[in-house]
Amino acid sequence: MAYVQGQTGEWEMVIGLEVHAQVTSNAKLFSGAATEFGAAPNAQVSLVDAAFPGMLPVINGKCVEQAVRTGLGLQAEINLVSVFDRKNYFYADLPPGYQISQYKNPIVGKGEIVLDLADGTSRTIGITRLHLEQDAGKSMHDQSPNETYVDLNRAGVALMEIVSEPDMRSGEEAGAYLKKLRAIMRYLGTCDGNMEEGSMRCDVNLSMRRKGDTKLGTRCEIKNVNSIRFVQQAIEFESHRQVELLEGGNVVKQETRLWDTTKGETRAMRSKEEAHDYRYFPDPDLLPLKLDQKWVNDIKMTLPELPDQKKDRFIRDYGLKSYDAMVLVAERASADFFEAVAKGRDGKLAANWVTGEFFGALNKLGKTVNDSPVSAQALGELVDLISNQTISNRIAKDVFEAMLETGKGAAALVEEKGLRQVTDLGSIEKSIDEILTAHADKVAEYKSGKDKLFGFFVGQVMKTTGGKANPAVLNELLKKKLNS
Ligand code: ADP
Ligand code: MG
Repeated sequence: MAYVQGQTGEWEMVIGLEVHAQVTSNAKLFSGAATEFGAAPNAQVSLVDAAFPGMLPVINGKCVEQAVRTGLGLQAEINLVSVFDRKNYFYADLPPGYQISQYKNPIVGKGEIVLDLADGTSRTIGITRLHLEQDAGKSMHDQSPNETYVDLNRAGVALMEIVSEPDMRSGEEAGAYLKKLRAIMRYLGTCDGNMEEGSMRCDVNLSMRRKGDTKLGTRCEIKNVNSIRFVQQAIEFESHRQVELLEGGNVVKQETRLWDTTKGETRAMRSKEEAHDYRYFPDPDLLPLKLDQKWVNDIKMTLPELPDQKKDRFIRDYGLKSYDAMVLVAERASADFFEAVAKGRDGKLAANWVTGEFFGALNKLGKTVNDSPVSAQALGELVDLISNQTISNRIAKDVFEAMLETGKGAAALVEEKGLRQVTDLGSIEKSIDEILTAHADKVAEYKSGKDKLFGFFVGQVMKTTGGKANPAVLNELLKKKLNS
């Protein structure tokens, strides 16, 4: 829990998020127009999207299926009857003068998302609902000095609006919620979660209350924040703004604000509209949407293993720590890569390598698991060489570097560079003797109680053996010699 320390005491953040997630589908929610990102302006607009008189909407079954899949992935109630409503407002990028949305009867009801937090604890956040609605077009104000252009490519694209309960208590939790929701939708294949392309957008609702209070304070809603980092920054800023107001004896006005990325502040946009301002009513062009329980059950049968289940299995089957398992399941591709490395091997060792050196290297190279220069099979071979004590973990790091540079296999590199670990007692003992003789003064210091010097001797022997001495053998022999 994150409290904001004010002049007069501690304040608690209360956060609820509304996420607009673009449904992965080839066509729009009520028309056959394409949805691909990056097309020329107005290249993907049907007569329905442009609201030509007499055009009628026809529901896209694929979008309905995707909403149900997402609902099932959020362990939510699926409503077998839902209703499409008109949400009326006027704007140039909304040709019909209303958005088709779902108001009183959404397709998906209450569900939940479990967050894994950095300190190893987890929290369950309630999902209030998920409903289907159309996206609007885009007004472009920067194409001409005195005109605004309208691009209707997005108009009519299917969105899932996923509303959370006001259950989050910090920017960290809001970030974890968005990451988890995105991971679940990516696993399900229902939304690509690409925030830069606008296929996932977030409205942040935030209020403050005294630590210990149970009543909710007045909230502000920060609209359309388009990255997880910005969500966290906006929460940071807005929480302090509200605390200052409240401590100054003022009230927080319920309003809609925007996040100014360049100034790093939230700014008032308009006073909060109320539901009745929109004159919602059931769309007379659309019948209530009725689903068959059997159809829902069939979709349920096709759900993949989701991040939470995968995480539990990794902990159970491979003996992973909860944190490592969480990191690995965050993306399906990394989870698959890990499993390919770990299968039939020491799971913990495999996890250390994948989350450590391997992810580190990808990061440095600006690559992803999918275009990794080292395959799972190649990394598995390296792990084998460590497990069967051909090389130490230390030497393996050098081998891995060489694999990245040359693309050669681990075993071939070990032979080529003569990196096989020395486990031969005689040769290690010889090196130890040499070092102890050369540093007789330090041996005396060690014997008079300076234990820390043990590491120095290990380092010296490793140096003379080119790091190839088997560490376990070396430690044992050295201890014996020094304590004799
Ligand atoms: P709308 O914003 O469309 O009026 P809702 O009233 O359903 O819709 O609330 C939207 C979001 O605001 C939800 O995620 C909800 O959890 C959150 N929310 C509601 N009240 C508060 C509050 N006092 N503080 C913080 N978040 C809140
Ligand atoms: Mg809202």
